[in-house]
Amino acid sequence: MMKTIGLLGGMSWESSAEYYRVMNETVKHRLGGLHSAKIIMFSVDFAGLRAHMLKGDWDAIAEELSGAACTLEKAGADIMVIGTNTMHMVAPQVADAVDVPLVHIADATAAACKEQGATKVGLLGTIFTMEKPFYRDRLAENGIESIVPSRADRELVDKVIFDELCKGEFTDAARKEYVRIIEDMAAQGAQAVILGCTEIGLLVTPKDTDVPVLDTCRIHAEKCVELAFSEEL
Ligand code: GLU
Repeated sequence: MMKTIGLLGGMSWESSAEYYRVMNETVKHRLGGLHSAKIIMFSVDFAGLRAHMLKGDWDAIAEELSGAACTLEKAGADIMVIGTNTMHMVAPQVADAVDVPLVHIADATAAACKEQGATKVGLLGTIFTMEKPFYRDRLAENGIESIVPSRADRELVDKVIFDELCKGEFTDAARKEYVRIIEDMAAQGAQAVILGCTEIGLLVTPKDTDVPVLDTCRIHAEKCVELAFSEEL
């Protein structure tokens, strides 16, 4: 029995398209033939949420995403997924709003780090993901120590995410800067680097650097499919 995945998407839709592709590919790989994933997506208008984010109004974000999660649950979702790292800032509120389990992106990512034998990792993502405790603490609870780039590089990474990646722009100049920052963190002892924003895997891939990189979009999407087949939920 395959469970139905409820995906809170649109943050940005560039990565939601990737979630959709990876989830379907993973089911196809597992079952073959014409099999595909059972997914219900609520794709939000990201601009309004971004405005709340810039004002620090996380309560408004929690309210909107919790409402969307309830809609997905009513529509038949068995598993809840927030398709972005940053919005896990409000994961506790979203999880509380529904009865179905929420698949936390940092838990899935921490498990992937361990599978690679990495316990000290670099973390790239939005300013919120790199600086607020919600993400790094969750990794630490799972036994993963994380380091982040310098303040100037954190600002650069964040700016590229919102000004370029979330708008579907993927340039060589941005890729070069990201690879420099990834390699800096490796030089500081990171055994792998978490691409902790669901669009970064569309810019940087393992062929761009010798440092192992962990694409949170792919990891999260694959974990959701694994759980969709699990008897435990
Ligand atoms: N998709 C991004 C992430 O994984 C950033 C967009 C957002 O702020 O949700 O964090």
